Amino acid sequence: TESLMAQCKLFGKKDLPIKYTSLFINNEFVPSIEGNKFPTFCPATGEKICDVEEGRKADVQKAVLAAKQAFEFNSVWRRTDASQRGRLIQKLARLVERDSEYLSQLETLDNGKPLAESLNDISDTIKCFEYYAGWSDKIEGKTIPVDGDYFAYTHYEPIGIVGQIIPWNFPLLMAAWKLAPALTTGNVVILKLAEQTPLTGLYLASLIKEAGFPPGVVNVIPGYGPTAGAAISEHMEIDKVAFTGSTEVGHLIMQAAGRTNLKNVTLEMGGKSPNIILKDADIDSAVETSQATVFYNQGEICSSGSRTYVQEEIYEEFVRKSVELAMKVKTGDPFHPDTTMGAQVSEEQLMKILEHIESGKKEGAKLECGGSRHGDKGYFLQPTIFSNVQDDMKIAREEIFGPVQSIFKFKTMDEAIERANDTKYGLGGGVFTRDIENAMYVSSRLKTGTVWINCFDVTLANTPFGGYKMSGTGREMGEEGLRQYSEVKTTIMKIAKKIS
Ligand code: NAD
Repeated sequence: TESLMAQCKLFGKKDLPIKYTSLFINNEFVPSIEGNKFPTFCPATGEKICDVEEGRKADVQKAVLAAKQAFEFNSVWRRTDASQRGRLIQKLARLVERDSEYLSQLETLDNGKPLAESLNDISDTIKCFEYYAGWSDKIEGKTIPVDGDYFAYTHYEPIGIVGQIIPWNFPLLMAAWKLAPALTTGNVVILKLAEQTPLTGLYLASLIKEAGFPPGVVNVIPGYGPTAGAAISEHMEIDKVAFTGSTEVGHLIMQAAGRTNLKNVTLEMGGKSPNIILKDADIDSAVETSQATVFYNQGEICSSGSRTYVQEEIYEEFVRKSVELAMKVKTGDPFHPDTTMGAQVSEEQLMKILEHIESGKKEGAKLECGGSRHGDKGYFLQPTIFSNVQDDMKIAREEIFGPVQSIFKFKTMDEAIERANDTKYGLGGGVFTRDIENAMYVSSRLKTGTVWINCFDVTLANTPFGGYKMSGTGREMGEEGLRQYSEVKTTIMKIAKKIS
């Protein structure tokens, strides 16, 4: 990556060629029907990168028709062997790998995250495609020993036309999390990119074509939520919608499905994940990991451990060490190799985070460091830590989605567990301790889709991810992820004189 670093010295990397800015339908890049465009900005400079074609209802309809044709009984895609679907996804992984330098630069340009973090995203994207490529011809049904003269078996079929709506925090990786399981199980897709970060998803569309997927199997629509997104969630011929984003919009998506065709819905939404540090923990490691989960990706992570609960015996030391560590964060040009924190995705998000910080101060939390904008160009924020945070404060209850760590004090493990679970969310949770019994005691009592012990935010292609309560419904990744994109079909056949 040295040559890459040398190439990317320019702040904002304005000279990066942008190759694809239109909708991708039926394997062709096409303008929007109504001719609208929208701008996408570089968060590090606040400058416009380019205009992108804006998909709306009519474009979604056009994509649905393409997808429908690709899914007809005797289409190329429906006649493609399962193993060949895997090969196509594997080819896509290789193409992402081939273009990983360009893709990581494009991601940093459009999203504002440090280049090293974009490279991590690309690496996880490749792993996600590879993992699901391997599943394509290993998804097996059952034969079931039923009573009577019958032979019964199950097998998995694709659900059909799948709408996928993704956010801006991990633009390419979220596209992979959505596409890989949907394609390995044989579905056809209409993917709506987030309006803040459409560029890597559109480039990925070109690789999908190059990999050899038949036309109409994957259609990619850049556009806004209330128009393109709503057109997907309300569409009568879309069989499923998978969404990642805010809980607020998750409500709308489920309501839309309820009002229309009761399409299958999976949601991956916000969180306020608790991270419990017991007094016997390896404190330096706990300090470092607890901070990484709130500062990595500028804090724009749904499963971020945004409530750090520290046992009172080690509270002062933990806070002091956290502040010392925060001082080492290097905020700035995301293309610079030394940078460890980039820019928030948009001015709107930056302002939202600053409002949260103001409310924290007003409600009496102690601002230990940060709390303000960094620099006067772009959407940067200083890494921020609050101590003495109380459970009823707004910063303790609402998702901030920025680099703001809130540190709470607790006395007993049971108290920490009760407070940790006192939230409408249930995405992730963590416990730091050297005592295995305590680790199991806490982890089994956290009402969250994932629990991390002595680590945090480790997300892998082969382990399920998703939320309890208002953090979500359904799971992505791992074998569970396949189920979300499959219908199970039971076939019962009458046979003559069955024997044992
Ligand atoms: P959002 O939920 O509004 O957007 C996510 C996606 O949903 C985008 O593609 C958007 O265009 C689409 N969308 C918006 N309104 C829609 C509608 N009515 N129908 C269908 N689709 C719609 O998220 P945001 O406004 O970009 O961010 C707001 C907050 O959401 C953040 O502060 C954070 O709390 C949360 N968030 C969570 C995640 C996550 O990974 N869980 C990701 C991004 C944002």
